[in-house]
Amino acid sequence: MASLNVLALVCLSYVALLFFVAFLADRMATRGRSAAWMRSPLIYTLSLSIYCTAWTFYGAVGYAARSGLEFITIYLGPTLVMIGWWWGLRKLVRVGRSQRVTSIADLLSARYGKSNALAIGVTLLAVIGITPYISLQLQSITLSFAIFAEADPLRSYHETTTVFWVAAGLAIFAILFGTRNLNANERHHGVVTAIALEAVVKLVALLAVGIFVVWGVAGGVSETLSRIDASRIGEWRGGGGRWGTITFLAAAAFVCLPRMFQVMVVENEDERHLRVAAWAFPLYLLLISMFVVPIAAVGLELLPTGSNPDMFVLTLPLAQGQQGLAMLSFLGGFSSATSMVIVAAMALSTMVSNHMVMPIWLRMQAGVGASVSGDVRNVVLFSRRISIAVIMALGYFYYTLSGGGAALAAVGLISFAGISQMLPALVGGLFWRGATRSGALAGLSVGFAIWVYTMLLPALGGGLLPDHILADGLMGLSWLRPQALFGIEGLDSTVHAVLWSMSLNAAVFCIVSLLTFPSPIERLQGAQFVNVFEHSSGPRGWTGSVAQSEDLMVMSQRILGATEAQAFFQRELTRQGGRGTLPDPTPAFLERLERELSASIGAAAAHAMIGQIVGGSSVSVQDLLAVADETAQMLEYSNQLETQSAELSRTARQLRETNEKLTQISQQKDAFLSQVSHELRTPMTSIRAFSEILRDDGELPLAEKTRYATIIHDEALRLTRLLNDLLDLSVLESGQVSLNMTAGTLAEVLDHAVSTALAGSMQPMRVHRDPVSEGVRISSDLDRLAQVFINLIANAQKYCDANQPELTIAVSQGAGEIRIDFTDNGSGVPAAFQQLIFEKFSRVSPERAGGAGLGLAICREIMQRLGGDICYLSNQSGGSFRISLPVERKKLADPLI
Ligand code: ADP
Repeated sequence: MASLNVLALVCLSYVALLFFVAFLADRMATRGRSAAWMRSPLIYTLSLSIYCTAWTFYGAVGYAARSGLEFITIYLGPTLVMIGWWWGLRKLVRVGRSQRVTSIADLLSARYGKSNALAIGVTLLAVIGITPYISLQLQSITLSFAIFAEADPLRSYHETTTVFWVAAGLAIFAILFGTRNLNANERHHGVVTAIALEAVVKLVALLAVGIFVVWGVAGGVSETLSRIDASRIGEWRGGGGRWGTITFLAAAAFVCLPRMFQVMVVENEDERHLRVAAWAFPLYLLLISMFVVPIAAVGLELLPTGSNPDMFVLTLPLAQGQQGLAMLSFLGGFSSATSMVIVAAMALSTMVSNHMVMPIWLRMQAGVGASVSGDVRNVVLFSRRISIAVIMALGYFYYTLSGGGAALAAVGLISFAGISQMLPALVGGLFWRGATRSGALAGLSVGFAIWVYTMLLPALGGGLLPDHILADGLMGLSWLRPQALFGIEGLDSTVHAVLWSMSLNAAVFCIVSLLTFPSPIERLQGAQFVNVFEHSSGPRGWTGSVAQSEDLMVMSQRILGATEAQAFFQRELTRQGGRGTLPDPTPAFLERLERELSASIGAAAAHAMIGQIVGGSSVSVQDLLAVADETAQMLEYSNQLETQSAELSRTARQLRETNEKLTQISQQKDAFLSQVSHELRTPMTSIRAFSEILRDDGELPLAEKTRYATIIHDEALRLTRLLNDLLDLSVLESGQVSLNMTAGTLAEVLDHAVSTALAGSMQPMRVHRDPVSEGVRISSDLDRLAQVFINLIANAQKYCDANQPELTIAVSQGAGEIRIDFTDNGSGVPAAFQQLIFEKFSRVSPERAGGAGLGLAICREIMQRLGGDICYLSNQSGGSFRISLPVERKKLADPLI
């Protein structure tokens, strides 16, 4: 008989082997050298076998011993799902990968608009539903230890201590291999490989025991069959309802269990693996369940009555003195329990950490300010590790509190029923776009409450649910009896609980979904989930083909620029060994490229773009939102730059204009000064010359003297006029002129102007006027206006070269102004000079008698001050000037006087 010491040694060596395998697989994976078999569908299929826990390893035989063939339902459910609902699972895997979900809580929360409330609800449900299941595994290990201990008289065996160390050891394993990398949706190659190995061990163990029992104990197939017949196990007991219910439960749990989700979706390396698993996993189930009935039948027959049928797998070889086989069987059970506990702890810890611990921590940090990313990384890992420890502790405490008495099968079914409450929200989310978060939350809450009330509490016993409630219903209402809801009695308790919880859950989910409206992000996510096959491309992983390298190159050149992109690709090619012209799109290369691109376009955009080309994962809503965020930031930045550059160019233009103006002004000033000095010098020269003659020549006749004195006088007058004009112009130009606005008729101003301009002239020209139109009243600085008129009339007098000079003054009104045209019958101003004559010192022909060329310039300044205008009319036969004067609005109505 193997002593406990030997057993402990075997156990430790086995665990050491698992550690070694996990470590090796992890190392190979991180170095990118994972062997082909590690990525084969076989490993995936074997990892799915964590469905078969100690409950199925030991419990199935016990189940068969108690309830006959009913245990088959536990295998039937997953088989039906794998074969009949293969396409549904494929959709689940695709959604999980494309949304990069980390757990089933994450998936449901993502589907229903990233609702953390839903994630917390699912997490709580999972923790409550799975904790008894974990303690069930601990119990099975302890029980198997106890069986060896019974047979070992030398050792005193302490149950609770064993459980404690088993729990602690499993926690350490899960922490070491389940939280190695930060990214929870990265594959845990080590763990997956280890549980695949455990899957083989438990299958081999059960097959070995089975073969031994059939051929070694019973003595062949036909003898075994007759023993089965005698034991009545082969009979179909229990109603069809119970069969259907448990098959459904097993199927639902297979899809919803967090650990199944972990291996099936999160750890899935390639969607195509599912295709193999669809037939290989049912085959595994068939093999593992093949010998359940023979072992149960032979056990019942050979072992003393009262021995625990849950342990037949172990006790039967022991009773037959098969130490080695018993040890193998023990390892099989140990494998089943440990693999389940490790993966469940991993899956639950991700959920607890992501949806409960991290949100609280982040909220606490919100006040403290943004933390560095390294900080967060440590916190995430720490919280995940603590969560694993806490979950294991929960399992341990549940075990010690419950005393570990309940039959294995009962706990398993309760757990299944609890976890299955996620099914309506999950399936609805995958196939029904109308499913809403409120619906999911409501359905889940109702299902959860009914499950707790009708199944969990009655089963826990221990005074949790007072007897009177069980007998008379809540608050004495008989229709609220936990095991006869709504007065329906006589149903099997499991069928009753599942029927009510699932049907009400589904009904509430549908009704509330129909009554509520999904938020925009829910609608978007709903479309992403339901139409996942249209949104995401091909089943490939984050690896690409060589053809895609070219596309990646083209894209990188656009983003990084040709030289930099080529340099990067060249570097990568050398790193890969330098064959070919472009590097192979290995995952490592793609990762580095993504990092390179994110420096330019942001992480989310880089991920989305590579994903688009390589096609491994589709763009999730999170990606889109992140890209939109980044784009918005960039847009804002570029807008700022644009405004700044617009401002700069405006300032530059203004500076240029000012500079041009300054140059012009300076040129004008120079021209003006030279003009002025020229204009001054001419009269000054003649004054000086004639005054010198007068001074020096004492014998000049009187007539000559008078003539010279007159010249000097005239020149002095001309100088005075010129200086007056210059002064006048400078006052007008500087804007310092004050206007003296008075009212009067236009006729008065014209009368004054004509008489002044023509006074003293030898041959005053004829002036034609129209007294009627001149009767209009105006309000202006009449003196200044008269000055303009005088100038125009005097110019006409001076420059009109007609034989019979005539001037016509015509007045007209229109468009808010009064127009006064001065038209003579001379030859006028040549076209080339028509604009120029208004400039200072501009004269058409300087040699002709006339002023200094300031008259019209002064006129223009005055008219601008008065709010009017002066222009030359080119379409007239003679010289023609038009004065426009603004009319105030109320004056417009005035009739002509
Ligand atoms: P000035 O002081 O020399 O008269 P203005 O500025 O008044 O200078 O006139 C500028 C030039 O416009 C004159 O030199 C003349 O050649 C031309 N001019 C002005 N009025 C007439 C007109 N009615 N007919 C022909 N030429 C004219």
